[in-house]
Amino acid sequence: MRSFDLIVLGAGAAGLMCAIEAARRGRKVVVLDHASKPAEKIRISGGGKCNFTHLKATPKNFLSQNPHFCISALKRFTPWDFVGRVIERGIPYYEKTEGQLFCETSAQDIIDMLLDDLQSDGGELWLKTDIRRVDHRDGGFVLDTSEGIMACEKLVVATGGLSIPKMGATGFAYDLARQFGHEIIETRPALVPFTLGPDKLEDFSGLSGVAVEARVTAGKTQFTDGFLFTHRGLSGPAILQISSYWRTGEAVEIDLLPGLNLMEWLLERKQSRGKQSLGNALAELLPRRLSDRWLELNNLRNESNIGDLPNASMDLLSKAVKKWTLLPMGTEGYRTAEVTAGGIDTNGLSSQTMESRLCPGLYFIGECVDVTGWLGGYNFQWAWSSGWAAGQAV
Ligand SMILES: Cc1cc2nc3c(=O)[nH]c(=O)nc-3n(C[C@H](O)[C@H](O)[C@H](O)COP(=O)(O)OP(=O)(O)OC[C@H]3O[C@@H](n4cnc5c(N)ncnc54)[C@H](O)[C@@H]3O)c2cc1C
Repeated sequence: MRSFDLIVLGAGAAGLMCAIEAARRGRKVVVLDHASKPAEKIRISGGGKCNFTHLKATPKNFLSQNPHFCISALKRFTPWDFVGRVIERGIPYYEKTEGQLFCETSAQDIIDMLLDDLQSDGGELWLKTDIRRVDHRDGGFVLDTSEGIMACEKLVVATGGLSIPKMGATGFAYDLARQFGHEIIETRPALVPFTLGPDKLEDFSGLSGVAVEARVTAGKTQFTDGFLFTHRGLSGPAILQISSYWRTGEAVEIDLLPGLNLMEWLLERKQSRGKQSLGNALAELLPRRLSDRWLELNNLRNESNIGDLPNASMDLLSKAVKKWTLLPMGTEGYRTAEVTAGGIDTNGLSSQTMESRLCPGLYFIGECVDVTGWLGGYNFQWAWSSGWAAGQAV
């Protein structure tokens, strides 16, 4: 039987960060993962460039039943702390939109940094290792794995959420949490495209690939960002962001021209260029394919002179563009979701250390916990911060 001070389950962002910190503190650490490669989600993240943090990350950028839970870890290991490591390592990076940091060259730079740090601090990494059973014995843990029986004093669970099962995502963390009496906040795919029913897909056929800036609202939450028609439904950052807040059966409202009072614009155009066709006028504001289809769907004639258009028709068009109400059929699910919302109830965990309140010595970090970030580097920041916090305590 091999014995360690600490076993970390899951060689993703959170698990590696925690293991590095613990190894630096002189703990004998091993990270186990069933995959053949570590940190696969880092590798594919941010289109291969890993949006590794957001400099403006605050607790309001995270969803959780307890919005205060993430405060302590985020405060103690901040985005700048991670950037410091990136700079020290000499990894080239750039700021895409305000605060959103990406690798200049490749996400592999971040993976290499983490793996080198783990190795130089004396931590071990065992891949292709299945964890069959975990028992709590004599104040420690005994694990039955495909590499034999292993024992440890402290156990950190960092096996992530359910998104992208093709890459090896499993519900392991939730099952283990339940085994030790933890509650699970219902999980759901988040940061995920919407799917539409056949009638809507027919309405929008031919629009696949059309992108605009839009404001999307669900309940009291709204995001203004890129919006994209796809052959299955809707995507783009504004849709991914709102999907984390959306609940099945809820309608969303979409403003395809945020920042413009379309009714005023049309009235002004009626005065100044009454002979312009409605189609040409709207195509000044929206991509031609979209503006043509919107006129058609609202029974307005593309070639009508804008000067002849009754105000009631302008009002109809204005509402169709700026208050478009739509009932998504669903989402693309865990197959493409960037993250899993919900997860291990934070009531059962210490916000300082991520330790279980029900089973001392057991810790949960990263995406498996009921803390879900917005799109924009927040999810990795949670992985770094929660991993770091546990790493100081284990
Ligand atoms: C396509 C995509 C792009 C993304 N881009 C970004 C981005 O740019 N910025 C950002 O902030 N976030 C991004 N995310 C989200 C981010 O990747 C996750 O929030 C983050 O990886 C979570 O880290 P984690 O360590 O908790 O879990 P993971 O990274 O999922 O790591 C979990 C590890 O546990 C292992 N594991 C799972 N089950 C078992 C088991 N039963 N036994 C053994 N090992 C197991 C897995 O193989 C994996 O290595 C993206 C996600 C996706 C899917």
